Amino acid sequence: MLTLGIDIGGTKIRAALVDLSGNIRQVAQTATPVADGREGILRALYSLVDPLVDQVDAIGVGSAGRINVREGSVAYATDNLPGWTGTPLKDLLQRRCPKPVFVDNDVNVAALAEGWVGAARGLEHFLCLTLGTGVGGALVSRGQLVHGATWSAGEIGHMLLYPEGRPCNCGGFGCLEQYVSGPALVRSANQMGGANRSGGPYPDGRLLFQAVEAGEEPALKAIDAFCRDLAYALQTLQSVFDPEAVIIGGGLIDGRQVWWERLAEQVRLLCPVPVVTRPAALGGDAGVVGAARLAQLHMEGREWPFL
Ligand SMILES: [Zn+2]
Repeated sequence: MLTLGIDIGGTKIRAALVDLSGNIRQVAQTATPVADGREGILRALYSLVDPLVDQVDAIGVGSAGRINVREGSVAYATDNLPGWTGTPLKDLLQRRCPKPVFVDNDVNVAALAEGWVGAARGLEHFLCLTLGTGVGGALVSRGQLVHGATWSAGEIGHMLLYPEGRPCNCGGFGCLEQYVSGPALVRSANQMGGANRSGGPYPDGRLLFQAVEAGEEPALKAIDAFCRDLAYALQTLQSVFDPEAVIIGGGLIDGRQVWWERLAEQVRLLCPVPVVTRPAALGGDAGVVGAARLAQLHMEGREWPFL
């Protein structure tokens, strides 16, 4: 059996044919035409699906946003995917392709992939944390995704870290995302007086990580604050969820050589109960592999995914 896994994000849409062992047999991707709104995104999606669909038994989709997994529709999406809120994705795809379609959130399906062939392989009870442009999360309990009452369980980026802290795009203040996302880390370093070789601010995380390796003071301070804030969050998550491990992924994991040990040190200092952390293993493939796995699990009749 082959299934088609699709990963819909704010910058690109990716599709892959995945076999029963989690191997990608074929992959295709296109930029997300956000300027064209829902119709544009759907056109781009169909352009990837149409040439591949005849080869598969089912289609799984992981999309950014809050997903009503029962209906396979987008309950809410931010302006990263303009017009996407309310899209009846499952119905639209099934009308176009005569194959079963299953839809979930992009971080949720990435967690399925990590649990299947990645860093959480063999674990029953774990959570995933993605640190990138934003901060995302997913909870897996007894091998099943936890969705919550309004499909927003695992929104770890909007967990309160500092009361009355930095304003967040969700309308709240002091959310975790405002302290440990990529942009937040770069902003912190620049506020601490960070400067690249030509005297300007650090433009991105990659240069910031280089500055940490070079021992530049503002970058070191920012990375220490980042590790401490992440350890605070891990301490709370551990006490609420008691996972076997927390899998940490997203763009910032590429620079983990400068922060992973520092984070472990902060966790040892701040967390009374040991927290097991592991770097995510599947990188940019987690979304498509996990979406394909979602479809497989449904086709195998596993009781999924209405927790
Ligand atoms: Zn927030």
